Amino acid sequence: MKVVICGGGVIGTCAAYYLAKRGTDVTVVERAGVANGASGKSGGFLAMDWCRGTPVDPLSRRSFALHAELAESIGIDWGYRRVETLSVAASQRQGLSRLRQRNALGWLGSNATVHGQLGTPETTAQLTPDLFTKGMLEASGATLVEGAVEGILLEDGKAAGILVDGAQLMADAVVIAMGPWSVLACQWLPLPGVYGLKGHSLVFRYTPDDPKALFVELEDIAGDISTPEVMPRTDGTTYVCGLSGEAPLPVNPSHVGTEKGGPEKLRAMTELFAPELSRAEILASQACYRPVTQDGMPLIGQVPGVMGAYIATGHGVWGMLNGPATGEALAELILDGAAATVDIAPFDASRLPPLDTANFLREG
Ligand SMILES: Cc1cc2nc3c(=O)[nH]c(=O)nc-3n(C[C@H](O)[C@H](O)[C@H](O)COP(=O)(O)OP(=O)(O)OC[C@H]3O[C@@H](n4cnc5c(N)ncnc54)[C@H](O)[C@@H]3O)c2cc1C
Repeated sequence: MKVVICGGGVIGTCAAYYLAKRGTDVTVVERAGVANGASGKSGGFLAMDWCRGTPVDPLSRRSFALHAELAESIGIDWGYRRVETLSVAASQRQGLSRLRQRNALGWLGSNATVHGQLGTPETTAQLTPDLFTKGMLEASGATLVEGAVEGILLEDGKAAGILVDGAQLMADAVVIAMGPWSVLACQWLPLPGVYGLKGHSLVFRYTPDDPKALFVELEDIAGDISTPEVMPRTDGTTYVCGLSGEAPLPVNPSHVGTEKGGPEKLRAMTELFAPELSRAEILASQACYRPVTQDGMPLIGQVPGVMGAYIATGHGVWGMLNGPATGEALAELILDGAAATVDIAPFDASRLPPLDTANFLREG
């Protein structure tokens, strides 16, 4: 069986891995470089049970376990490790010294203090996103085709392949996994809308003495609250995100960039709670879009009414976490006719109306 996967983000490469593991002939088609989007620019933070109380919980728990298994079984170092995760309060307006005496973390500034433990090494972990995404593709052995997916080929109402830069690429099954750009597929298939929420991030050359994942609540001098996240990594870098962007999703993923003043603002925010970190060399100033749906839940399953066409996107803030269990479930669905490891019924695309694409898409 031949499967074509549109999109070389974490969802596409995880699907490639679990399909190829079972002997499927897999081709991944990627327009702008594997992991160029959020799958290479995200935090890479993983939590076992932070989706509890939602239909995504079983997917996340399965995926958290698969991450540990993959890090153990595949001989590629993508910076996976278990971490302690702390919440930090920081304020430019109020002294936090009384709390600080009890809860110091050496690399935080005098405005900041630890005020809670959000996760232990049993429940939280991290990885370096681009290394993981590329590592999964490498481990899959799938063929990579560089090109833009421009359409889907249908024969008797069934998916028969895709159009890549004007050329036909035939397949028995097609998976749409283009993150926020999956919205392009709404022109070709009856799919609900997928939207992109933009975020900026910085990668500093910095290794704190006591590396912990931090979720910071930061109050600036005007009383405005922001919530940066800080991930020290195993490769001598520390990642900081937490500043959104307004620019709409460009059709070409290569055109995604930071917005005027964005990186400077994020650095200034960092200075308020971790001055030494904020002064370290910046190795990357970047932005990316997380894929979201109208109801905040992913789309995973067969495209309604179109045999051989599948969708896997809309993972929001948890795409790095939920990549493996999504890929595994998708492989089961395509090869066995049903997902066995996780119930993906809540993620069926038919729960939402198809997007009316008239005037929705424009070249960026
Ligand atoms: C700032 C930020 C921090 C985040 N932190 C975390 C975190 O700590 N933990 C976590 O679990 N998740 C996190 N996320 C979410 C996570 O990064 C995403 O959910 C995930 O990366 C989405 O993966 P994807 O494969 O669906 O999409 P993408 O990574 O966007 O991949 C889609 C791919 O499709 C390609 N493509 C687009 N158009 C075409 C075309 N026409 N033809 C061929 N290819 C095409 C793109 O080039 C891209 O490579 C974060 C997101 C952001 C923005």
